[in-house]
Amino acid sequence: MAAASEDSLVLVTGASGYIATHVIKQLQEAGYKVRGTVRSLSDEAKVKHLNDLCPDATYKLELVEADLTKPDSWEAAVKGVSYVIHVASPFPASAPKDENEVIQPAVEGTQSVLKACIASKSVKRVVLTSSCVAVNWSNTNTDKVHTEEDWSDVESLDAYAKSKTLAEKAAWDFIKELPDEDKIELAVINPAYVMGPVLHGSQCTSMEIIKRLLERSMPACPKLNFAIVDVRDVATAHVKAMTLPEAAGNRHLVVNTNMWMKEIAQQLAKEFKPQGYNVPTVNCPYFALWMSSLFDKTIKMILPQVNKVHKFENKRMKEVLGIEPLDAKDTIIEMAYSLIESGFIKKTKKYKGPGGIEETKAEEDKTEEKADEKKEEGKEDEKAKENGNVKEDAAAEDKKEDKTEEPAKTETQAEVEQKTEETKPEETKAEEAKPEEKAEEATAEKTEN
Ligand code: NAP
Repeated sequence: MAAASEDSLVLVTGASGYIATHVIKQLQEAGYKVRGTVRSLSDEAKVKHLNDLCPDATYKLELVEADLTKPDSWEAAVKGVSYVIHVASPFPASAPKDENEVIQPAVEGTQSVLKACIASKSVKRVVLTSSCVAVNWSNTNTDKVHTEEDWSDVESLDAYAKSKTLAEKAAWDFIKELPDEDKIELAVINPAYVMGPVLHGSQCTSMEIIKRLLERSMPACPKLNFAIVDVRDVATAHVKAMTLPEAAGNRHLVVNTNMWMKEIAQQLAKEFKPQGYNVPTVNCPYFALWMSSLFDKTIKMILPQVNKVHKFENKRMKEVLGIEPLDAKDTIIEMAYSLIESGFIKKTKKYKGPGGIEETKAEEDKTEEKADEKKEEGKEDEKAKENGNVKEDAAAEDKKEDKTEEPAKTETQAEVEQKTEETKPEETKAEEAKPEEKAEEATAEKTEN
């Protein structure tokens, strides 16, 4: 490990973002002093929650203003800092009108941050958040597993992928050309599509898939394939790359597994359909998607990726950074719960919350057990009567008991019926209530095939 004392000051750029909040949390948990940059300290929605990321932190998070489009704003931000984790970069959910809106802050902004680091004389290493789209976003040979050796072909990229590729290239060039006396280290993290729980307070592009599926803002799943990774693994990768000697001078693909959107939807449906979320689980025909792209900018942006698979190796992530990826199912389900719990997705009337499904199942089992017990008791009484072993007075007593038991039995059955109705999977209810919706989905499947 590099000589990192826990009270080293670390600067995290773009502190208000999805990934950066997890990085800050993990740094604070590890005992580091953290300074974060935001574009505006007065933007309550983006800043408020940042002080609660690690309530037991030894050092309170310090926030300063800096903007990638304002080169002069970085000098003060890096003052006295030992490590910089440069996460900030535009990550749009739809294609920008002018690609320079995204490319300039990414490329020139990264250069401004690096220049300020050199001028500070205190920064030892910069960890840059690049992306797997800088490794491959154009070559869709499904058999090839791309490695850190690969680079995307800039000519064939959309604005975002271009911004990430050019920004990473600019950073490596900048470091290479430094005179010996100014040398600092650079380590790069190239995450795949990041999912997992949110800790921040504003919308971000990574929420799009889960939000659209749970809100059923599209009736079917585009045939999109995602190399996904958990945001907590991505944050750990940044923190480890900050001090591990072997990380300096290298790129690190951080990726778990490839999943089709339909597979993500199926995981969600299992957990959330019983809770009132009508998740679509059929594939969307290309033509329908193309039609939607005419008025939905996000769909327009993803259209070129339909049916394409990009695979990435995670050897360095495992062997150098020592990260074993979290279970993809947990990544998806925990992200969905966090979006609901933090108000990005509305709660349905049937919403039970994390663990709610298990509780419902346990309740169902208990109710069934109770009903079985009652049945058995009834049978034994009948047997005793048939055998004539019951004395007259005891029989009279039994009769009394039968009477008192009767309403109780009726109550139990009502309970069973009510609980079964309450806990009946939404899927079954939807089937009963909306046969025409099922027919619609079947037609969509057929059209596609
Ligand atoms: P995010 O939540 O949108 O965060 C982006 C951050 O960058 C925000 O804090 C944003 O600040 C800041 N930013 C944007 N333009 C800026 C500017 N001109 N000056 C200063 N700050 C600016 O996105 P994210 O998912 O956390 O992504 C963070 C980084 O990871 C990006 O570099 C992205 O390319 C990369 N990445 C993300 C994924 C993914 O799937 N999420 C995958 C691979 C790589 P405001 O809050 O003020 O807008």
